[in-house]
Amino acid sequence: MDPEEQARTLLKAKGLRVTGKRVALVNALMRAGEPASLETAHKLCGQPGGDQATVYRNLQSLAEAGLLRVVKGVGRREMFELAAHQHGHAHLACTKCGRVECTEIRDLPAKPSKPNGWAITDVSVTVWGLCPQCR
Ligand SMILES: [Zn+2]
Ligand SMILES: [Zn+2]
Repeated sequence: MDPEEQARTLLKAKGLRVTGKRVALVNALMRAGEPASLETAHKLCGQPGGDQATVYRNLQSLAEAGLLRVVKGVGRREMFELAAHQHGHAHLACTKCGRVECTEIRDLPAKPSKPNGWAITDVSVTVWGLCPQCR
């Protein structure tokens, strides 16, 4: 399946309207392979993704539909990644340049067994540090 077809399939699977701009956005995030900020997503899409306001709106709708996962980056900035790429999910976040990378960490903390009245939906782990470029 070519990447464009794959993007269409992902959108359709979530019941989202398939538009050229959304396909460009999903494609860009597939290429990125790591969480992207609005600015990065916009840059990666290029012209086919539309202007930054359009990319922003599409990121929000795709995240709402569960196609994207929102990852909190430096300063609680929102970063987006495809929810389809599941792994023992942890993120490495660079405190200097704000880059966020996916990483597999063995022995991720399990869901707390007695969350005291809470309904746990997700556990996310972020490891903060300096990326190879910033060290
Ligand atoms: Zn960095
Ligand atoms: Zn990730």
